[in-house]
Amino acid sequence: MHNYEVTPTVFFGHGSPTTILDDRETMDAWSGMAQTIGKPKAILCVSAHWCTQGIKVTAMEQPPTIHDFGRGLPAQLFEVQYPAPGDIDLAERVRDILAPLPVELDQDWGLDHAAWTVLSVAYPEADVPVIQLSMDARKPISWHFELGRKLRPLREEGILILGSGNVVHTLAQMEWNIHAKPHDWADRFNDLVINVIETNTPERLFDHEALGHDAAMSIPPQDLGHYWPLFYVLGARHEEDKVTINPKHVQYKSLSMMSFLLDCR
Ligand code: ZN
Repeated sequence: MHNYEVTPTVFFGHGSPTTILDDRETMDAWSGMAQTIGKPKAILCVSAHWCTQGIKVTAMEQPPTIHDFGRGLPAQLFEVQYPAPGDIDLAERVRDILAPLPVELDQDWGLDHAAWTVLSVAYPEADVPVIQLSMDARKPISWHFELGRKLRPLREEGILILGSGNVVHTLAQMEWNIHAKPHDWADRFNDLVINVIETNTPERLFDHEALGHDAAMSIPPQDLGHYWPLFYVLGARHEEDKVTINPKHVQYKSLSMMSFLLDCR
């Protein structure tokens, strides 16, 4: 057992950006988890919306808020700013901890909407420094898990490792109705991943193709970027972590909001 404070790690299943306008159930779940966590020293965010060739980490004093979604959403979403400071020392620490893998200190990105939607609900004061880590889009699931394992020591340094993605993310099968009954395959795959989290058996998910129809429908190849953040959080898990999952449901037929907290304090 750890006899010192270990910062929890958390995964947020983010939905449409409109979640932060009208999905009170999810917002309450996210802010409740943040209250359980408390304010960390800084946040390392792994966002589904930053997939790159190689690994980058934002290293800037003041990361800009990026509105990386199409037109047609309410105007107020385009006006959201999340003015949390960056943390260049932490970016350099992440680069060192991942060595010998090359990590580029990035000055071009910022906070994308997978990051700021969840952060604006979890930590609305925007007073905790945030950096983003990109995911190398060429790598298999097990590689992303191992990267999470390498990041785990940051938890002992007061850093919150936060993944923002989805375990069911099939835009082509969505219906623009938040209460639409989920596809059966979406519910089944969501339940499978919940079972994997509850039983701490992440290796069951490493061979995505071998999992068959439900997995292929829930996370098609073009949506893998939304799946990978899960594995950073699972990689950063300690054996002693207790799991809290909330919410668990799939909305818009094929978008899982499943979010969970791992905490060993
Ligand atoms: Zn997204």
